[in-house]
Amino acid sequence: MSIIQEHSIKLDITLPKGDVSAKMDVFYNPVMVSNRNISVLLLNCIENMGMNIVDPLAGSGIRSLRFMKELKKGKMNHLFVNDRKENFKKTFKKGCTINKISLIMQKKMTIGTEEASLFLLNRINDAVKPEEFCGYADYIEIDPFGSPNPFLSAAVARIARQGIIAVTATDTAALSGTYPRVTVRKYWAKPLRNYLMHEIGLRILIRKIQLIGVQFDKALMPVLSYHQEHYMRVYVRSEKGKEKCDEVLRQHQYFFYCDKCLAFKTSVFNKEKCGCGEEYDFAGPLWVGKLFDSQLVEKMERENEFSEDAKFLQTLAAESKQEMAGFYDIHEIAHKMKIIIPKMAEILRKTKGVRTHFSPSGIKTQMSVKEVMKMLQG
Ligand SMILES: [Zn+2]
Repeated sequence: MSIIQEHSIKLDITLPKGDVSAKMDVFYNPVMVSNRNISVLLLNCIENMGMNIVDPLAGSGIRSLRFMKELKKGKMNHLFVNDRKENFKKTFKKGCTINKISLIMQKKMTIGTEEASLFLLNRINDAVKPEEFCGYADYIEIDPFGSPNPFLSAAVARIARQGIIAVTATDTAALSGTYPRVTVRKYWAKPLRNYLMHEIGLRILIRKIQLIGVQFDKALMPVLSYHQEHYMRVYVRSEKGKEKCDEVLRQHQYFFYCDKCLAFKTSVFNKEKCGCGEEYDFAGPLWVGKLFDSQLVEKMERENEFSEDAKFLQTLAAESKQEMAGFYDIHEIAHKMKIIIPKMAEILRKTKGVRTHFSPSGIKTQMSVKEVMKMLQG
């Protein structure tokens, strides 16, 4: 055993040699530090206080330990933390001791070793005094190894009004279309295999989560969604109401892409000819609405104290101010035009565009591909 430190928390674990595997005795994935940083930051930046927080796939428990140490005073009412590993209770209590979590806090905690959906459906109801708690959670963390699909229904069933569900998907190959039929089976949409595949995969994932929500009249609106090299991450806020659900469904559309002239657009149809005469290829249905609550992302960028995520948050904050589905890849365009790639700063100024976190050579701009090309030529 060895001690590792992740921000405020010390953890007594043995780091894996080689690939991280779900079979590890205590599951700890160091690559997910940024994922956890951003969840701490987001919870500290939203207005919700006195939250009942559920972490049903806790692994080593590091995220929950960090919540107890790093969330602002009054943010958390009760913590429900669970992992199927037999020794989880012992491990988590040990983590509390090593990190000097106060006894008062330890009393406001329910530790489980159940299957995650069963924990969500059963334990949240009976753990806390009824006057404190209504059986719904204000924050649910779905952080599985692979696809989040098996846990979405239970999370949607248990989320409170204005509560937040955070979803990680590490099956990025399935979402970005390595095997298109897998995407159709697991995520009910057609992917696209080109430079846009990660944005398209993320939007396909968002729609899937929302479809689980609308059948229970819960409109799940994204407040922060992004892709990092080996996973997708989505935070949705749950709002109740049929009208809001209809509004969500109206933003489930198709994404068109033209291989010949590089134009793209969204549409309620899945077949159309591009202006250049070529038949569009399509992806979807997928979420064409906003990926960000721009005010929240700006606040997160302002209040961020994790230096390793500063640049990423800056990009997200800028991107959130100019939202649209799709982006141009400057390398792709320059290659098509057989020209030398101009400086990024200059391109952004001329196109009134913003960078996107999806690609270092990507820009989001309201200009058409023709206008961008004309600008690059001049
Ligand atoms: Zn075209």
